Amino acid sequence: MTKHYDLIAIGGGSGGIATANRAARYGAKCAVIEGSKLGGTCVNVGCVPKKIMWNAASINHAIERATEYGFSMGKHEFNWSAMKQARDAYIERLNKRYGVGLDDNSVDLIRGYARFVDANTVEVNGKTYSADHIVIATGGRPLVPEITGADLGITSDGFFELETQPRCVAVVGAGYIAVELAGVLNMLGSEVSLLLRRSHFLDSFDVMLRETLMDEMLDAGVNILSHRNVQEVRRDGEKLVLVFDDGEQLSGIDSVIWAIGREPNTQTLNLGAAGIETDKRGYVPTDALQNTNVAHIYAIGDITLRPALTPVAIAAGRRLADRVFGGMTDRHLDYSDIPTVVFSHPPIGTVGLTESQAREIHGEGVKVYQTRFTPMVDAFSTNPTKTAMKLVTVGEQEKIIGLHVIGDGADEMLQGFAVAFKMGATKRDFDETVAIHPTSAEEFVTMR
Ligand code: FAD
Ligand code: NDP
Repeated sequence: MTKHYDLIAIGGGSGGIATANRAARYGAKCAVIEGSKLGGTCVNVGCVPKKIMWNAASINHAIERATEYGFSMGKHEFNWSAMKQARDAYIERLNKRYGVGLDDNSVDLIRGYARFVDANTVEVNGKTYSADHIVIATGGRPLVPEITGADLGITSDGFFELETQPRCVAVVGAGYIAVELAGVLNMLGSEVSLLLRRSHFLDSFDVMLRETLMDEMLDAGVNILSHRNVQEVRRDGEKLVLVFDDGEQLSGIDSVIWAIGREPNTQTLNLGAAGIETDKRGYVPTDALQNTNVAHIYAIGDITLRPALTPVAIAAGRRLADRVFGGMTDRHLDYSDIPTVVFSHPPIGTVGLTESQAREIHGEGVKVYQTRFTPMVDAFSTNPTKTAMKLVTVGEQEKIIGLHVIGDGADEMLQGFAVAFKMGATKRDFDETVAIHPTSAEEFVTMR
């Protein structure tokens, strides 16, 4: 017999869980279908284990800084496998906590992979379930290039499975994951080459951010190679060799990490049975209200072409539940000006338009303020990091339309400034705010 629900969320990751929990709190009878671990990408192979690795790398950096502050440091060693064990145990606790959360809201958890039977029915492990509303939130998976020997490399998923620290690593890619993993491994003492197919990474970010990060990474010892297209990976005894399209090679590699983007998990959903359209790459187009082309079927998170960030999937899902079950007729996520942080070393925080986007849109009306300095934490370092900040403003009111920072603490700095940004702050509002001294953040309210 087919069990019926008010709402089924396919995918127990950031978006699916958030939607079902919120809908259930309005009294809707809900189910989440999950084929793997609860929590999805973010909890299991994304934000959470990544941030733990970033913390480990930052702690190592702090230990190195400590001698400059007068500490006599004995020899310190990093035990990768002990840290992995602790990380895995933490994630297991989170998996359980998500299960408890669903129970608390009386949301049924159906274990297995879903396939559409028709526009109201899905099948999981031979059983069928129907719903008045179905949310697809099946997330994505890492891409692997179609080249000879690609399977000798790993992706970010494989990185989180590593039991021991690779000594010599080649990271291929130019986005968030490439710079984050290259930074973490380098800070933890691996020898890292970062292979870009163009001259730069983080293409969509403000040029100040990416140029500063490039300098910082080079300074920290990352071997950044630009205009490198990997054509083949070969085994050479215990090691791997990368062969580039110009015939050059990079040898002695223990681990190759592909960080060249992700693709949506939509191929096995049998979307055609429900008449749901996708684009060529399998992404599900939605309107502003998360509607797909089929009534009462919605898509959220990484399978849509919106920013692939956990808080975005959660916010879109909760607003969808508010609209469908909470009587908030037009409630939806405003996708403009989403703040984002890259957990590089040092981290990047950014919201709004880059300087070049702003100039393209607003021309002469744009005025930019920027600063670059050594943060006080590195005041007497022999190898200080840099902090750089930029405010992009427009018009006589100097409304802030872009806010960018790279440096120690940028990750924690951005959230508060993003509130001011969202509220439409002007440069004058920033100037009128009394600084907090001595911090790096105060530079945002004292720029001339
Ligand atoms: P997911 O969280 O991926 O959940 C989808 C779930 O659906 C999965 O559990 C999957 O098993 C399940 N599923 C798939 N197909 C089916 C099916 N047919 N039936 C049933 N279940 C199915 N974002 C940030 O905001 N901050 C970060 O610091 C950050 N770091 C990241 C680091 C890495 C290495 C990666 C890969 C991503 C990171 N992200 C980060 C992005 C973030 O993880 C995603 O944007 C977010 O998880 C997307 O949520 P989602 O609900 O769309 O999908
Ligand atoms: P991204 O889309 O961010 O970056 C992948 C980049 O790799 C491409 O933009 C491209 O850059 C480069 N690339 C593509 N193909 C190749 C190739 N064959 N060889 C070399 N380089 C190639 O993908 P990620 O996988 O890094 O991350 C996916 C998403 O997950 C991110 O966009 C982000 O939304 C989310 N995420 C968020 C994090 C956070 O919030 N801190 C952390 C990690 C992920 P180019 O064209 O310039 O060569």
